[in-house]
Amino acid sequence: MLPEAVAKQIIADHQRRPRHTGALDGVAGVTLDNPGCGDQVTVWADVPQGRLAVTFSGKGCAISQSSASLMTVALTGKTVEEAHALARQFRAMVMGEEPGDAHLGDLLALAGVSRLHARRKCALLPWRALEQALEQAPPPPP
Ligand code: ZN
Repeated sequence: MLPEAVAKQIIADHQRRPRHTGALDGVAGVTLDNPGCGDQVTVWADVPQGRLAVTFSGKGCAISQSSASLMTVALTGKTVEEAHALARQFRAMVMGEEPGDAHLGDLLALAGVSRLHARRKCALLPWRALEQALEQAPPPPP
């Protein structure tokens, strides 16, 4: 666990200055809503040369938007396999399970969401969109 002050700082920073925003050329985005909170996130994912490029745009609460921004940073340059593994570990953390020896890095800033049941959907929204975007992404060249 990160100290709460550090976690808050990371979340606020990503909300203020979201990373990797805007559409990716030639890729269809996946848009998902979280009506309970009013969040909306669109995620674009592509896998040129077997390494992920991920971008997003969205609106909504600090949790959903910082989760999306942190996700793009964590996944950029990863393989699809690594992305799925990280998504599983992030989900476990948000659901209050022990993330194990996960290399979640700054994503640990969102660990506190596990205590806020209503906000879990906010944190997971961009990751659900990512999973769908990955299903659409063309497979890497052989
Ligand atoms: Zn929300």
